[in-house]
Amino acid sequence: MTRLVMKFGGTSMGDLDRIRRTARIVAAEARAGHSIAVVVSAMAGKTNELVAWTDGAGRAAAGMAMTDDEYDVVLASGEQVTAGLLALTLRNLGLDARSWMGWQVPIITDDVHGRARIDEVPGDVLGAAIDAGQIAIVPGFQGVSRAGRITTLGRGGSDTSAVAVAAALGCACDIYTDVDGVYTTDPRIESRARRLERVSYEEMLEMASLGAKVLQTRSVELAMARRVPVRVLSSFIEPDAAGVLPEKSGTLICDEEEIVEKRIVSGVTMSRDEARISLLGLPDSVDRPAEVFTRLAEANVNVDMIVQSPSRTEGTVNLTFTTGRRDALRAAELMREGQSDIGFQDIRVDEDVAKVSVIGVGMRSHAGVAQTMFRALADKGIKFQAISTSEIKISVLIDAAYAELAVRALHSAYELEAV
Ligand code: ASP
Ligand code: MG
Repeated sequence: MTRLVMKFGGTSMGDLDRIRRTARIVAAEARAGHSIAVVVSAMAGKTNELVAWTDGAGRAAAGMAMTDDEYDVVLASGEQVTAGLLALTLRNLGLDARSWMGWQVPIITDDVHGRARIDEVPGDVLGAAIDAGQIAIVPGFQGVSRAGRITTLGRGGSDTSAVAVAAALGCACDIYTDVDGVYTTDPRIESRARRLERVSYEEMLEMASLGAKVLQTRSVELAMARRVPVRVLSSFIEPDAAGVLPEKSGTLICDEEEIVEKRIVSGVTMSRDEARISLLGLPDSVDRPAEVFTRLAEANVNVDMIVQSPSRTEGTVNLTFTTGRRDALRAAELMREGQSDIGFQDIRVDEDVAKVSVIGVGMRSHAGVAQTMFRALADKGIKFQAISTSEIKISVLIDAAYAELAVRALHSAYELEAV
């Protein structure tokens, strides 16, 4: 019997009817001869409600950080409920199933509450249980620190739980969600977006961190590091009368070598999670930018794009950088505090920006990718404010008002709608 991890998101666990459908999908895989571990999310909306409760209980007033251990105790409960309900439902279908809480597996994490990282997941006990024919239900999102406290893995963390369990069991991971795969871009922005049959780990990692919301970024990192084949599938399916599932489509996230179709660009993403900070009239000397970025680094503020340009005043420059929106106020505050040492004249903070990126492993070996991008933007009269590149992506920062237009222009410039 081959082992398989199946992961179901909040929509698939949203109420008892949906849990029953999820159970039928799991039962079909079990009857097809798999040894199965299922990783579940909380019911859709539940985690937000739990966050609000911790706020209401005075988390902020008591000066507790989001990283408080009791915050995790509350948040982890959502997945405990769905794990138990799915196990019960499977038993009612005549299958042998039981739940395994994070501390029982155990899913061992560091002690950074609120966004813990998984250190280790032993696969032997869980593996023996499922090989003996019992379906294991593991709550996603939760783990246990070495000090024995309950932890959670950050929002969207059930994906990472699922990949970690698959890595521990040495098997593939099917992620059932409310979209039927990974698309060339967000179909809500471009209706001609196309589902990708396969996408490489590296491309998926860039897509997840650049704004595609299908998977938690850490889950892709882990899948890439442990070479776990991950398939993203729609949960809106039903086994037929004989209990057999339709043939699996979705998107397979795998090694680049396993992808036959050669494309230069695989996807276009858009993120509104950026803010732009400009320091105007900074003395033009080599040590000023170092001063700026040291202050940001010491405060743990991540900087993404950086541009320096001449300013109108002789001997000074403008230095522009972007941070995540969450960090922008803090970054601006740090700059203002240091204004006299850093020596800039004025500061601007702009949250009305968007980062639009094109991603594809084919860029490594093809010229002209940037040219196509800038031509397409120019044709629409879209100005860019900053650029950053890696081997497999080019990102531009633009006015948020043009973000969707830019996505559509790029999607057609790279002919992503055609096969
Ligand atoms: N329930 C958690 C959240 O909403 C984890 C997850 O669903 O992945 O963030
Ligand atoms: Mg999710």
